[in-house]
Amino acid sequence: MALHVMEEANRCLGCKKPRCQEGCPIHTNIPEVIRLLKANRLNDAGWMLFENNPLTTVCALVCNHENQCEGHCVRGIKDSPVHFSIIESYISSTYANQMTKGPAKPNGRRAAVIGAGPAGLTIAIILARYGYKMTIFDCRDKIGGVLRYGIPDFRLPDSVLDDLAYRHLELKGIEFRPNTYIGSAITIDDLFRDGYQSVFVGAGLWKPRRLNIRGESLGHVTYAINYLASPSAFRLGERILVIGTGNSAMDCARTAIRQGARFVTCVNLTDKLTASQYESSYARLEGVSFLYNKCTLEIRQDGVILADSQVDEAGQVSPIPGTEKLYPCTGVIVAVSQGAESNLVSTTRDIDTSKTGLLTVDEDGHTSRPGVFAAGDAASGARTVVEAVANSKRVAEAMHEYMQSLPLPRTTDYPDAPVVSFAEASAQAEQEL
Ligand SMILES: Cc1cc2nc3c(=O)[nH]c(=O)nc-3n(C[C@H](O)[C@H](O)[C@H](O)COP(=O)(O)OP(=O)(O)OC[C@H]3O[C@@H](n4cnc5c(N)ncnc54)[C@H](O)[C@@H]3O)c2cc1C
Repeated sequence: MALHVMEEANRCLGCKKPRCQEGCPIHTNIPEVIRLLKANRLNDAGWMLFENNPLTTVCALVCNHENQCEGHCVRGIKDSPVHFSIIESYISSTYANQMTKGPAKPNGRRAAVIGAGPAGLTIAIILARYGYKMTIFDCRDKIGGVLRYGIPDFRLPDSVLDDLAYRHLELKGIEFRPNTYIGSAITIDDLFRDGYQSVFVGAGLWKPRRLNIRGESLGHVTYAINYLASPSAFRLGERILVIGTGNSAMDCARTAIRQGARFVTCVNLTDKLTASQYESSYARLEGVSFLYNKCTLEIRQDGVILADSQVDEAGQVSPIPGTEKLYPCTGVIVAVSQGAESNLVSTTRDIDTSKTGLLTVDEDGHTSRPGVFAAGDAASGARTVVEAVANSKRVAEAMHEYMQSLPLPRTTDYPDAPVVSFAEASAQAEQEL
């Protein structure tokens, strides 16, 4: 691996105007990282990667490199581009082992993060560096959001997220409160009551988009985001139709193959796949087939009714009458994207949303309610990991500025209450028994 990495690093031309850096949404200083590596300064290169992008170990594995850094590499015009993804993966995963520093000096303030996905993690990590006491709330039992409960383990192993949880959260004193849905027993107002001086919402998009057709509620049907959260919980049989051809459809199809399905077919509305070329080519390689130009009309216990599709001048796709046919299958996965859930907002006053339920924010992530900030998919709509991190970096600075303008918070309503020793408390408890 190391030799391969150095071979790739040696192919870098060190361009004065690095197009790779421009193509990277978080503007990683790629030529400088490669220069440091070539100068045997791996730790400096690693430090630089983590300072710029706390989720560098993740991005190295899941970014859409073909459209970002590698897609912009000058070498790629005539030859293959420098594969920075493997260089980043090597440096960041090696350097991560050196990251054992404890928490920063506390600054007496606390902030709350709703959602332990890429957006929330970035906010918590950056604000903890400034000395804020950070608490992350998530309705799941572990950190990661889509990284853990969406992207399959064969693309992003859980060990990468566990390592991130240890180094960036545990060692830095960031608290994680699992299995806690904000907007149910606890609301955003409760967080302000309890002394959090600002609240970040990075709740992502977890409400599956429906097809709105007959049969969607049958027992052998599921939505992509529900399936990917725990694929082994489902019994979808050997012949699966995946409705949709985006990246999450590819994740479902490839996961279904690993779960034992023998025939997996993705159904596409038009003649163009929406998944990236890498993802669809892996799916093909693993035996997934594709049906093009098909509208999904109805789901039945024995299969799915599809019709040929047509596109009108306005770009609207519709079924061609008379072409309906039954495509037999044992299970159906609907993978046509996700939208926002409304609970969080409906339990909080003064937070504006768009018509589609996305949180309304300015470019620094301020929502319509002072002290509440947002970024990631919940504000931008479905995007990518690196974009969630890049936007959240800006928002973390805005939260810092906001909190610094406030007086230090009161930590209790009873500052003069005497302390009961543990021995006294135990004796008292026994007497009361
Ligand atoms: C299947 C799939 C595959 C993808 N693959 C890629 C890829 O390969 N590369 C890439 O760059 N992007 C990929 N994406 C997109 C990328 O994962 C998202 O853009 C990114 O995860 C958004 O980060 P986020 O922090 O905004 O939200 P999320 O990752 O969705 O995290 C939100 C978190 O908030 C929690 N939450 C929600 N509501 C509440 C609440 N009320 N209270 C407490 N917790 C709450 C959720 O449990 C979750 O942990 C993929 C998306 C999907 C669905």
